[in-house]
Amino acid sequence: MTPVIGVTATLKQDVDAVAQRPLGRFVRADLDYVEGVAEAGGMPVVLPPLGDSRAVEALLDGLDGLLLSGGSDLDPSYYGEKPVPELGDTVPERDRFEMRLLGYALRRGMPVLGICRGLQVLNVALGGTLYQDLPSQMDHPVLLGHRQETPKWEPTHEVKVDGGSQVAEIMASDELKVNSYHHQAVKDLAYGLVSVAHAPDGVVEAVEWGDLSQRWLVGVQWHAEAMRDVGAEHRNLFEAHVCAAERHALCRAAA
Ligand code: MN
Repeated sequence: MTPVIGVTATLKQDVDAVAQRPLGRFVRADLDYVEGVAEAGGMPVVLPPLGDSRAVEALLDGLDGLLLSGGSDLDPSYYGEKPVPELGDTVPERDRFEMRLLGYALRRGMPVLGICRGLQVLNVALGGTLYQDLPSQMDHPVLLGHRQETPKWEPTHEVKVDGGSQVAEIMASDELKVNSYHHQAVKDLAYGLVSVAHAPDGVVEAVEWGDLSQRWLVGVQWHAEAMRDVGAEHRNLFEAHVCAAERHALCRAAA
């Protein structure tokens, strides 16, 4: 049985390359997520940001796991804050869809892997908050540049993973070199989540649910999908997620 993994997408306005005419808005997902799921033995399906709640439930009926991908900033109203001037672009349809989708997925006990924005969405959906902009809001004497300009497969900072954590066990590593494409990060951690990996400046780089055998929720702040060729530890995250989705599907079939 091949577990089906829903991969969230974003909406992008496209422009005709030749005539520079504005085209429509397109549903887009980075191929790295899709390939990461497929390599790990899952069947990736890119999810359109549907607005109707019944359609969202119907979408989930066809899924065994959920991968929340990276992208634009989440609207801070979801954690009760007004936007600061440094907040980046938001995509309201995507925010609404993902918060609803994730809420329903959590109710179903569906395994969720959150990457970059995905980790942040997971934390907020469970009641946590975010730094809207690290450089202007996080007080640290040597805050790292978490927004690299180099290609996304190149690591730019170190991450220390807690030795006894489930993420360390999954990755089979507790010292990582990761890429970094974010200016937001976890501020207050949601109840039930544990922060299990940090950059040298203290920024939360990975979270996990207290007991993954009860509820498989993992989030990483780096783009693991872009580092699959750099190290097996990044592929391990996708494999663990697909495995959890397979178990979830079997339990669902038996119920
Ligand atoms: Mn980082």
